Amino acid sequence: MTEPTKTLCPYCGVGCGLEVLPPAQPGKATNRDQQGNPIWQVRGDRSHPSSQGKICVKGGTIAESLDKNRLKYPMIRESLDQPFRRASWDEALEKIVNRIQELRTTQGSDSICMYGSGQFQTEDYYIAQKLLKGCLGTNNFDANSRLCMSSAVAGYTQSFGSDGPPCCYDDLELTDCAFLIGTNTAECHPIVFNRLRVHHKKNRKVKMIVVDPRRTPTAEAADLHLAIKPGTDIDLLNGIAHLLLRWGYLDTLFIDECTQGFSQYTEVIQHYPPEVVARKCGIRIDLLEQAARYWGESERVLSLWSMGVNQSSEGTAKVRTIINLHLMTGNIGKPGAGPFSLTGQPNAMGGREAGGLAHILPGYRVVKNPQHRAEVEQLWGLTPGSISPNPGKDAWSMITGLETGTVGLLWIAATNPAVSMPDLERTKQALMRSPLTVYQDAYYPTETSAYAHILLPAAQWSEKTGTMTNSERVVTLCPQFREPPGEAKADWEIFAEVGRRLGFTQEFNFTNSEAVYAEFVQLTRDRPCDVTGLSYQRLQQQGPIQWPCPLEEEGEIGRKGEAEETGIFSALFKEKKQEKVAKRLYTDGIFNTPDGRAKFAAFHSKGLAEPPNNEYPFVLTVGRVYEHWHTMTRTGRIEKIMKKQPQPFLEIHPRDAEQLAIEEGMLIEIHSRRGKGIFPARITKAIAPGTVFVPMHWGALWAENAEANVLTHPEACPISLEPELKACAVKLIPVKPE
Ligand code: SF4
Repeated sequence: MTEPTKTLCPYCGVGCGLEVLPPAQPGKATNRDQQGNPIWQVRGDRSHPSSQGKICVKGGTIAESLDKNRLKYPMIRESLDQPFRRASWDEALEKIVNRIQELRTTQGSDSICMYGSGQFQTEDYYIAQKLLKGCLGTNNFDANSRLCMSSAVAGYTQSFGSDGPPCCYDDLELTDCAFLIGTNTAECHPIVFNRLRVHHKKNRKVKMIVVDPRRTPTAEAADLHLAIKPGTDIDLLNGIAHLLLRWGYLDTLFIDECTQGFSQYTEVIQHYPPEVVARKCGIRIDLLEQAARYWGESERVLSLWSMGVNQSSEGTAKVRTIINLHLMTGNIGKPGAGPFSLTGQPNAMGGREAGGLAHILPGYRVVKNPQHRAEVEQLWGLTPGSISPNPGKDAWSMITGLETGTVGLLWIAATNPAVSMPDLERTKQALMRSPLTVYQDAYYPTETSAYAHILLPAAQWSEKTGTMTNSERVVTLCPQFREPPGEAKADWEIFAEVGRRLGFTQEFNFTNSEAVYAEFVQLTRDRPCDVTGLSYQRLQQQGPIQWPCPLEEEGEIGRKGEAEETGIFSALFKEKKQEKVAKRLYTDGIFNTPDGRAKFAAFHSKGLAEPPNNEYPFVLTVGRVYEHWHTMTRTGRIEKIMKKQPQPFLEIHPRDAEQLAIEEGMLIEIHSRRGKGIFPARITKAIAPGTVFVPMHWGALWAENAEANVLTHPEACPISLEPELKACAVKLIPVKPE
């Protein structure tokens, strides 16, 4: 019997462990897909600490996507109206290198941009940072994580002094009250939700609150569903804080010893009495009070959120307002409690560790900090001043840079912005103007390949060895278990080869990904995300390990170690300062701010960037369905999934449907200020009146005129620069049958 390869599901940030076996097993029938092609066998890995053998439909069908529509060879065309022709790696890479050299002398390095992805393994991320930020001296590397969780990064950093979710999945089974806001966890992070649901069902005292304008499957499972109006999250959170303060549900010792800014915060939340908040949010006062009571009466409260909070023009303020509730009640650093942002992509966390956003550097450093830049320059062997002190272009600025002519090369890798960017028609127009777009991906065609001049075939997960970090900071080694198709190469190998051709031979003198990882971990030494204790060898021997995992703690720390904190804040917290951190961060009550205190921050809500009005009376919110993943480059080619979710749709409340004479299944034109799409109506009380919903997955390859992001706008949070993909104003026009 062949031993299965243990790896990680490459879809979402839950990071479920998989076991993979070849299609043919001695003495067993060959595993085949629905067309009869042999496919690898995939099952949950019971030994993986995060998922304990469970997987969802996406993980369970991943093998069917491995060989479909793969990009196998480099391809080139001179202009977008020409067909691609096959090219050699030499020719493709020389074209890129020549363009980089030309731009460096004519427009400067800041005209070179790379847009990467949470699908990268950490090694891919790391080498891209070294190439762009180190060797080329531009911080123009951003990732699709900008559209996903950059508000959580900013919120954690400002409140705690550094990024990093402080919780772990075990908290799902230890909490007394789960507060889920802006997350349809049941559909988008199903295995996380399963753990919570089982705990909730088993323990009648455990409460679950869900805040969402939609009655999602997540909300269906809750004790309390607060269907607030879109954009009123901060009002609600301040309203809960107001009641906690009024009723005296405070951890005054924690507030006094571990935080700063509480009195300024109380001045703001006093303006949020229940009558005001309930009216603003469109909910009943008694439900608001019930939520506050659940918070106050529970010893351990765990908040979960994802893009419903992050994708907002005030995303960072929302994250910090959630964190405020944890600080005032001391719900952090102890089992079952804490503010827990769920990441979307499988290795968005590894990207944060490797510095994979335009304003950060490896090891949770920021480009604006001179000491951080100097540390990285020294570790990379660069001359002082090599790294630019200016944050690079974020995802949307790359698009506007194409419009203004300040971007001379856009290199897109492992992501599909021609579906996922806001204001999609404008995005596509900008991509049309790109002087040179390199598109490096495992799949072809995608919506974005239509805008590329050079296509580079990338080996994906399964065809290269690398590491990924999931939402609970668990690092898993994902070994290669099959050959890449055609001439596809690992992303990091492509970046390193370009680096060598540019003359940085020493900097990119890596023979394998293990050597890349060994160098990367050195840049995390003494940083909050310290993984100097990790190596391929250790991950192979011990399996997945949680960070922080510093070298000196090897064998004692992390999930495989013995250290187990209790971390309940009380008069004893001072003694806990010496305790080792294992599953949770901040168990000692000391944060990464200069004075060690977490910071309260008080915000009044500004509401939606584009509120409804007479002309555009509905709020459109977009989201995901259980079966599909992002822009469907994989799931769109899996028959079982397409059968269940073949087309996009519009959810509308019966009252609104009646007013507009809309019937079930009728085609509806949705117009925003930027464009329109046509969707069949689903009439359901799951959506609140005045709000409509469409899923974001379908791009131009899959559905004509039904791209959700044609409607959305790019207004972003001024701190995190994450666009408000979650809400825009629209009007609905039923399509008259011909
Ligand atoms: Fe994969 Fe996420 Fe499903 Fe787990 S929950 S199997 S990581 S898609």
